[in-house]
Parts: sequence; structure tokens; C-alpha cells
Amino acid sequence: MKGRIHSFQSLGTLDGPGVRFVAFLQGCPLRCGCCHNPDTWDGQGGTEYEAEDIVRRAERYRSYFGQTGGITLSGGEPFMQREFAAEIFRLCHEQKIHTCLDTSGCVDAEKCGQVLMHTDRVLLDIKYTEAALYEKHVGCKMQQVISFLQYLNRENIPVTLRQVIIPTLNDTEENVLRLLEIARQYPCVDKIELLPFRKICQTKYDMMGVAFPFGHLPEPDPGRMDELRQLLGRYGG
Ligand code: SF4
Repeated sequence: MKGRIHSFQSLGTLDGPGVRFVAFLQGCPLRCGCCHNPDTWDGQGGTEYEAEDIVRRAERYRSYFGQTGGITLSGGEPFMQREFAAEIFRLCHEQKIHTCLDTSGCVDAEKCGQVLMHTDRVLLDIKYTEAALYEKHVGCKMQQVISFLQYLNRENIPVTLRQVIIPTLNDTEENVLRLLEIARQYPCVDKIELLPFRKICQTKYDMMGVAFPFGHLPEPDPGRMDELRQLLGRYGG
């Protein structure tokens, strides 16, 4: 089983628990205004790899994984290559490697069962907590993400909610309180991560000749990030 990969990160500590081998899969149907990885959008880009090859690469770092680490599939949107992702995770489970999948959740959960049956944790990038912002800046319906979360809850798959904090759009206490409300409704959520909006990706947009939709917005200051994170309580640990 072959699939297309944008890049790898050997010893990542930001995409899931512990130390992780991260594979960024090629292809995403969305066009989020804050996207850091526009170079993953093209489903025909990147380099082709066999699923077995990805797992062999992950195994090289097994001694760093400890009790909590493992592999993370990110992107792009890993569910764009569902069969490939399912095969990687199936093989990882054969090798007792913990599996994590980073997704926008703007997907049909019923079609993702083959992947999710071998997924130990989902990193769900909930972009906003307001339907209007989803429609304006993501291009999918927030209800689709909530339906996906409902599915994860039914299947008892642990979830980390993640959100990029973008000044003027979602850097408010009200937004974080709404995130907490969502987390409380779905016991599968045991963690929330707030990530600062970054503009280091501007050069990628420039090289692609594409406008960075949020290039005019400021990055949040660290003090504001701390204030918002303090609202997370037990979900922030
Ligand atoms: S879902 Fe992720 S990769 Fe796709 S456009 Fe949005 S931020 Fe970029």
C-alpha cells in the first residue's frame, strides 16, 4: 500500500503524548486562513512511500517512545489517504506502537472506521467554536466536526482538542469557555491545547505565489496565551 508523504519529523514532542515519530501526509481539501502547511494541500505532491517503510522508520525511534510516545500521522489531512493511514496504523499496532492522528475533523466519520479502529488518540483541530467563523475561514460546517467528535466519543477514542489562537478571531475568554463546554459534553476529551497563531509560514505562501489569508493578523503575545491557558483547568495539564 503506497501513499504520499510531505515530510517526517523524527523526534516530535508537539503532536501527541511523549516523543513521537511524525509523518505529514500530503493532501487537504480545506483552505484554513491560518494554515501553516499550504505545501501539503496538493494530494499529488510530496513523495510516495510504502506503508511498511513508514512503520520501519518509526521503529527506529522505538527506544525514545517510552510508555507514552509513538507515531503521529498529521498533514495535510490524513483522512484524505484513508486506506494508507489505516494500513500504517494496522502495522503499527502489530508492532505495539501507539498511534495518534491529527485531523481537522471535517470528515465523514463513518468512512474513517478502518483508520479509527487502529487509532489510540485523535488530535482534533477544532478551528473555532462558532459556526459562522467555520464557514468564513475554513470552508466546512462546524456541525461536521461535532458529529465526528460524537463518533469518537461513542467509540471511546481519547481526544485532545487543539485550537490555534488567532488575535481578533478567537483570542477571547468566551471562546475558551465554549471549548471547555464542548469538552465537558464529550468525556472522550481529556486535554485541550491552545497553540499560538504563527506567521513563519509566510515564506511558503510567497514561494507558492498564493496570498496568506491571515498574513495581516498579528501573532498572539505569550502573556495572552498564558491567560487563556489558565482557563483550561484540568484539561490544560
Ligand atoms: S486542515 Fe490543516 S492542512 Fe488543511 S488547510 Fe486547514 S490548517 Fe491547513
